[in-house]
Amino acid sequence: MRSILKVNWDSNLPIYALSQSELQKKGIHSLLIDVDGTLVNRKSNVIPKAVENWIRESKNLFSLYLISNNPSKKRIAKIAKELNLRYKYNASKPRKKVTLSAIKEIGCEPKDIAIIGDRIFTDIIVGNRCNIKTILVKRLKRDGLPIKFNLTLTIEKVISHFIK
Ligand SMILES: [Mg+2]
Repeated sequence: MRSILKVNWDSNLPIYALSQSELQKKGIHSLLIDVDGTLVNRKSNVIPKAVENWIRESKNLFSLYLISNNPSKKRIAKIAKELNLRYKYNASKPRKKVTLSAIKEIGCEPKDIAIIGDRIFTDIIVGNRCNIKTILVKRLKRDGLPIKFNLTLTIEKVISHFIK
C-alpha cells in the first residue's frame, strides 16, 4: 500500500527555487499550490517578488490553481487576484472534497498533477489521498526568504516516521 505520507519530491527549497524543467521532466502539467507559508508568509499579504516571477513563468508551462485551508475568502481571493489564478479557500486539507473539485475543474489526469505545499499533514496527505504527486517546499518568512528551521515540519516528520 502506498503511504499517504509519501513525498514525491522533498525539495528543501522555497517554491520559487523549484526548477520548472524538473517539474516538466516529472510529467507534471498542473500544479495545485498551497498559499500560507508556500507563496506568502502567513502573517503577511505581500507576495514576494521572487514568488510573483516564478508564478508568471510557470503560467506559461502549467495549469495553476491555489488551494488554501485559510477560512478568509478576503485574504485568499486578494492573493489569487494579484496572481490572476483560480483558487479555493477553506479547503479543509487533508480532507479530499475541495481538492478533488479543483482537480476536476483542472480536467487533467491525476498523475499529471502535483500539489506543492509546506506541510505534510495537510498538503502532502491530501495529495496522496487524491492520487496526485506531492512536493514539499520550504516555508517563507515575512521577508520572502525561506525559514531555516521549521518546527512544525520537523514535528510532522518525526510523527510520520513512527506512523509509517
Ligand atoms: Mg501552508
